[in-house]
Amino acid sequence: MSEKKSFETARETLKQLTVRKLPPTPVNYKAIYNEIAGIPSVEHFPAQELRNIASALQAKTPGQQRQKGLLESSIDRMNWDGVRAALVAYASYLPTGTDSAHSVATTAAPVSDSVSALTPEFLAQMGRLIEYAQPALGTDDARFTEQSRELIKTLKQPDLNVVAVKQMLVNYSHRLSFAAEDQAEIKNTLLKLLHLVFENIADLSIDEQWLIGQMEALKTASAPPLSLRRLDDVSSLLKDVISKQKDAKHKSSLAQSEMRQMLAAFIERLSQMSQSTGEFQEKMEESARLIENAKSIEEISPVLKDVVSATRTMAKDTLSARDELTTMREQASSTQVEIAKLHQELDRVSTQARHDPLTGALNRRGLEEALEREISTFRRKETPLSVGLLDIDNFKALNDTLGHGIGDGALKHLAQVARECMRPQDTLSRYGGEEFVILLPDTSLEKGIEAMTRLQRELTKRFFMAGTEKVLITFSAGVAQLNNDESGMEAIKRADQAMYLAKRSGKNRVVGT
Ligand code: GH3
Ligand code: MG
Ligand code: MG
Repeated sequence: MSEKKSFETARETLKQLTVRKLPPTPVNYKAIYNEIAGIPSVEHFPAQELRNIASALQAKTPGQQRQKGLLESSIDRMNWDGVRAALVAYASYLPTGTDSAHSVATTAAPVSDSVSALTPEFLAQMGRLIEYAQPALGTDDARFTEQSRELIKTLKQPDLNVVAVKQMLVNYSHRLSFAAEDQAEIKNTLLKLLHLVFENIADLSIDEQWLIGQMEALKTASAPPLSLRRLDDVSSLLKDVISKQKDAKHKSSLAQSEMRQMLAAFIERLSQMSQSTGEFQEKMEESARLIENAKSIEEISPVLKDVVSATRTMAKDTLSARDELTTMREQASSTQVEIAKLHQELDRVSTQARHDPLTGALNRRGLEEALEREISTFRRKETPLSVGLLDIDNFKALNDTLGHGIGDGALKHLAQVARECMRPQDTLSRYGGEEFVILLPDTSLEKGIEAMTRLQRELTKRFFMAGTEKVLITFSAGVAQLNNDESGMEAIKRADQAMYLAKRSGKNRVVGT
């Protein structure tokens, strides 16, 4: 605008102020001036108030200092966009929930430095990462779910505002930390609850000896930390327990109702008998009285007739009662046979289960299933699979000197130590009386030998306590790595032969094959 023109505009502005009867304040003057000069109306810019805010902001980190400087210069230039961008960027340098100010200062780079790294592929990958992680974080927090959805959507947009995305990421990670903690807590609490349920079932079923071992195994398998393999164990154990309980409950309720019916019949029969005996007694007393008082033989004759008929009825009653009682006794003994059969059946079901009730390790059947699973993984992933077979040394002598009960305790102890020193993916099974097989996935022969030797060492550190007496349990073991062309059982057989060699060469050692 030329100087002449602006002079005219100023004069016209003053004139309009008078015409419109407006107070001659700088704001009014500027508004009219802009109107006449055709300059777009500029709203009042609260520079002083913004400076007050800027001076209140801390500048502890280089990022904060830089954004504070940008904010101040934007205020000087009355640039709203600049003010907004500087404030948003400043917010990203504030410490988030659990982060310390220090870690933010050292890890966060100024926005402009990282912009070049934010290629669309990088951002899309970040979006996918958030999308894939979402199911693990649950949907309980609706705001967090919404936040993730918005963020994923934004990351997919071609022209995104890096500053805004960064702020969204900061907010997201803040909430994410809570969601992840929540999920971990939920998992642990559920596990504890599960444990509690198992404990409770075990307490309630205290009379069912065959169930106690299974419940102990369930408690062990459900103790944290949890892995998918252990959950697998828990579910197969639970299947066993449920099927056995159902079976037992059904059969024992049948046996009970049969017994109840029989008892009712007994009572009924007894009461009938005492009634008829009572009637017979009365009849006899009455007859005796009549005979005593009789004055002639004619008078006695009908009485005797009565006595004979009462005796006959009584004899008939007694006979039929005896027959009934015999039938009932036969029924009772056949029910007893039924109950004995039921116990046998329970034992059979118990052996059908996949776990050994004494040690909680898998039994033969469980081992076969686990072996099948491991072999299919072995074929799919082409990772080595080794099997270790151990046999306790001189176990017979231990049984003979300390008793069978202590022997059982020693077996439990060994299983417990093995479980604790094995990796979660290894599987322990009871192969025979005092023989155990350990499946070692993703393990070469050499590493397998190392694992079995580690278990030996662990047993020398953790004595088995027979009351107050320390008992050292040792074992001999063989290890075989599965060949491509052999079955799992063949590999176990080779391990068994190697174990035999270990026995022959002095026991308490591990031999590979
Ligand atoms: P070696 O060092 O050669 O292996 O000798 P060993 O005495 O351990 O071997 P042997 O095979 O002669 O004896 C095994 C013993 O294990 C015999 C058997 O009574 C005992 N046994 C098997 N199952 C159980 C069980 O469930 N509980 C107890 N307490 N003992 C068992
Ligand atoms: Mg043996
Ligand atoms: Mg032995």
